[in-house]
Amino acid sequence: MDQIQYLKNLEQNYTNSSALDGNTANLIHLVNANGMTISLMDIGATWLSCTLPINNGIREVLLRSPNMLEHNKHTAYLGATVGRFANRIAKGKFEIDGIQYQLDINNGENALHGGLKGFDKRRWIIEDKSQQHVIFSLFSEDGDQGYPGNLEVSVTFTLTDDNAVNIEYHANTDKKSPVNFTNHAYFNLAGIDSNISVLEHSLQINAKHYLPTTETMIPTGELKPVQNTSFDFTQTKIIGRDFLTDADQKIASGYDHSFIFAKEITNAKNIVATLISPSQDVRMHIKTTKPAMQLYTGNFLKGNQGVGKKIENHDGLALETQYFPDSPNQKQLCQDYGINCIYLEPEVAYYHQTIYLFEF
Ligand code: BGC
Repeated sequence: MDQIQYLKNLEQNYTNSSALDGNTANLIHLVNANGMTISLMDIGATWLSCTLPINNGIREVLLRSPNMLEHNKHTAYLGATVGRFANRIAKGKFEIDGIQYQLDINNGENALHGGLKGFDKRRWIIEDKSQQHVIFSLFSEDGDQGYPGNLEVSVTFTLTDDNAVNIEYHANTDKKSPVNFTNHAYFNLAGIDSNISVLEHSLQINAKHYLPTTETMIPTGELKPVQNTSFDFTQTKIIGRDFLTDADQKIASGYDHSFIFAKEITNAKNIVATLISPSQDVRMHIKTTKPAMQLYTGNFLKGNQGVGKKIENHDGLALETQYFPDSPNQKQLCQDYGINCIYLEPEVAYYHQTIYLFEF
């Protein structure tokens, strides 16, 4: 199928039934000089598709639902902009200046990814767009999903001619509030129709530490060295090699943990991680201003409907640049790292950037 037809089909499949708000989704397709494309949607400011021109064809490297009807049902945050707070907050509780807040609980006993109606389910406003960029904005009112403060947020996706997907987040609030955005794209660099598991991919992460978790996936507070554990990706390693070999992974049915970067490489210029397809024909480098990245190997993906097939566990993996999970209650980790990731304060501009750079 040629690229134009592929994007037409995608557009049709996502607009022939309505989004959760009863209206039709809006899709934006960006194309660069090399014929790489990315498609974004206003629902959830979602990164829906990423095609690479390879061997005179196109390779789709992002997992997604086949259409809007299925998109409305999935529970995997496929490609979504996650907020107001990505990852878990223990028991949905935190305290700011002596005031206790209680968020909705939507993941066991914890709050996950912004709540029952997080930013992934909202219709964002398309503020601006061109052939190679789009800006989405959202207003989240004081009390939204239990979070304090009116929050204005925007996310800009730019597809550059050097095959980078550059994601920039801006936000400001009028009350102190936990704020932590990420993009929840699931990658499969062999192609989503390849039937090749992400466990066959190779990964390198420039992180000497990770955060072990409790049974409910909340960091224990320990900053654990990766050395001599299955979490050591400092040298490129096939993800499946040490899969499920230790207790920390068994708790999570695989990798679903935060890797901590040395502060000096969180400048969006240094490479913090690289994912490589099994045949080594595609590499994806990540650069970011965030202190950490959740590696989630798609351990609970099974059951969601994908394009042309049911999605299986490990059909895609997420590399979510973030603050530390549960950071409003992990004050010591934030303080030791030297970053205010506990909450965003009024008059402080939230700005973060993550780049996914493709080589093919
Ligand atoms: C979390 C997983 C969760 C997944 C989908 C990831 O970011 O770390 O634990 O299952 O999102 O909700």
